[in-house]
Order: sequence, then structure tokens, then C-alpha cells
Amino acid sequence: MGKTRFVSVSSALSAFLVLAALLAAPAQAAPTSEQGGHGRVDPRPSTAKLAFELQRLRLFSRGAVEVSPIGRSNEGRPVWSARVGHGPLRILYLTQQHGNEPLGTPAALEFLREAGLGHSPYQRWLRSRVTVDIVVRANPDGHERDWRYNYAPEADPEFGEQGKGYDINRYHNPELAPEDNPATEAGLIQRHYAEFRPDIVVDYHMQGRYRDDEGKEITGSVKWPTHPEADPAAVSLSKQVTVVAAESMNAAGGNISQYPGGNYQGIARNAYGLRGSGSVLVELSAMPAEHEQAQIRRATFAMLAIARGTANGSLRKIDPAAAEKIPPRGDPIGRATRADSA
Ligand SMILES: [Zn+2]
Repeated sequence: MGKTRFVSVSSALSAFLVLAALLAAPAQAAPTSEQGGHGRVDPRPSTAKLAFELQRLRLFSRGAVEVSPIGRSNEGRPVWSARVGHGPLRILYLTQQHGNEPLGTPAALEFLREAGLGHSPYQRWLRSRVTVDIVVRANPDGHERDWRYNYAPEADPEFGEQGKGYDINRYHNPELAPEDNPATEAGLIQRHYAEFRPDIVVDYHMQGRYRDDEGKEITGSVKWPTHPEADPAAVSLSKQVTVVAAESMNAAGGNISQYPGGNYQGIARNAYGLRGSGSVLVELSAMPAEHEQAQIRRATFAMLAIARGTANGSLRKIDPAAAEKIPPRGDPIGRATRADSA
């Protein structure tokens, strides 16, 4: 028996086993006391659990959530796209380009549950107005190692670390063709972006810990494209999205500041602004474990608020200048423990 045939039989078998597990034991994936009790979500689902949760969403949403890989990581792990809605306004969320910045990923699962599971009039209206596509955990190899980079130990990257891999969030440069992109997973996102053509892109990261001028901890930071050649209309839309993200997270008990980001065109925030989309960076602060559920919830609220504001048109009525009034980030708390430049 050839190897190819073995692989296809084995993948068909594993698909069957996943389905059998889904049908036989849906309760297995429900929150357990081990994860902290009712309503808690797993902040760091394993690669296998993430795939399981996405397939579960696909199955239980009866097709409202579509799940498919946009390709594979350097080590062959699927990079998942999950899509909900069929409306004309298109939103792309990215999570976990940096493997050690996990919390956008469980937030995405919660968003998909909120938007995709159920047939309330609100959900049906939302899904008729917007199409939300999420690249859930763009960097599965980095997640496995709990590090920032992808896995390319032989590479000598311009952006990244020799012996580890590329910094995916430096390889979205619009002048870099996906087929020439040395950072595999960034190339997958570039291709996906070109196919999907989103109006809005929001990229979820994590930063260190900071406090504001009054000493209160910053829970997150946001920023629009700052590259000088970004299309003014795209920057204006980006600022409107930034305001919605900040206000929704503040309303959920957050304390949101402006991220002091640079102008490099390889960063997703700048690259997709240069390509004409509203493009926003959301950074969640790496607060201690007891705050993680709240941080995930805030990230989910921002996803829901951006989708809702896009769907009902309220986002486009916001004064873009309001984004400039979001306060600066302030000083770090303790010693910086992570490379936290977006
Ligand atoms: Zn990051």
C-alpha cells in the first residue's frame, strides 16, 4: 500500500472519529470544574481541542459557521478560517500571529458561538448584514512552543530569531507576493485576504502590563495604520473601528489606551491599511491568570461590537478624530517580560 493511500484513509478515519466523538459526547467539550467552573473558557486550547471546538461549532450551528483550513503551517498543522454570516460587509479577524499571545483565540471561539449558534432575530439580522471571517490562531507551531515566532529553525530571518523562526507579523508587506513570502503563515493570510477582500481587518495580540497616568492598570491598547501612504479613507475607517473597539472594551470594565506602534509596512495593521481596508491592532495586556476570563470577554465584546456597528451603520457615523483622544499607554508595570511590539 502506497503512503498516499494510507494518509488519505487515515485522515478519513480521523474525520470519522472526530464526528463520532462529537455525536457521542457533546458534553465532553462543555466547561469542566477543572477549567474553573461554569462559564469559563479555556484560555489556551490545545491544537487538537481548537480543531474539535471549531468542528463542534460547524456541526451545531447547522452550517451558520463554516470551517476550513486556509493552508498548513511549516510543521503541517492546519491554519483555520471560521466564517459566520453572509452579508455584504466583510470583516476579517486575525488571532495569535504570535504564538505566545493566546487570548484572542478563545475570544474568537466565543464570538463564533454568540454570532453563529442560534437563530434569534438578532443573530439572523447580523448574519444577513455582515460576513465575519476569522483566522483562528494564525501561528499554531508557535503556540505549541509558547513562543512568538513560527517554526523555521534553519532560517536566518530579517525579522524573527535564528534557530526559532519568522515573526509572522512583519511579513504582510503589500509589495511581497504570497508565493515569495518566507514566513509561510503570513503568506497564507495574504492569500486569504486577497480572496476575501474584507472592508475591515482587526488583528488581536497581547502586550506586557502598563499603567495609566493615574496609576490604574491598562487592560489593552489599540491603534490604526500609521504608515504615511495608507489610504486616507482606510485610515478614517480604521479610526472609527478603533473607537468602537476601545469603547466596547471600556464598557466591559477595561482601561484602553493607544498603542505606540511604528510605521513599518510589514505589520498587518499597516499592510492592510495600505491595501485599502480599515485595519486595527488590538493588544490585550498579559494580566495575571485571575484576569484572563475578563480579558477574553473584552476581546469578544470588541469583536461583537465591531460586527454590530458595521451591520447597523453606526460605526461609519463615528467621528474618526475621537480615536486621537484615546489616552497614551503609560509606563510599564515591573520589568517587561515579553517582546511586545505588536
Ligand atoms: Zn503580538
